[in-house]
Amino acid sequence: MASENGATLKAIADMLADGLETQVEPFPETDKEFAEILLQLRQLDTKDLKAKLVISGFLDHPYGPDRQRCLECMYYLVHRKWCDLPELSVPVEPDWWCRLWRI
Ligand code: SF4
Repeated sequence: MASENGATLKAIADMLADGLETQVEPFPETDKEFAEILLQLRQLDTKDLKAKLVISGFLDHPYGPDRQRCLECMYYLVHRKWCDLPELSVPVEPDWWCRLWRI
């Protein structure tokens, strides 16, 4: 499991480093907008990693003037380096970010 997560983490890191363009904006300002993104994610094949990254607006660095990042997000599990949002459920680095960020 740990090595599988490591391989997935690397696959995500590589796609982002290669310049994958993701939907960073619009940031969901309301619960309705947030739910609409979740709905799009639920319609994906759960193995379609690239589409998950694109729809959720992944970045491999902190975002905006507040430097938001996974580490301070309510879905981040520090010890597993894991995003626990069910629609994502992927390993993530603490300095990454996506537009589903919440505190
Ligand atoms: S929801 Fe986004 S910002 Fe939050 S932990 Fe998951 S990937 Fe990181």
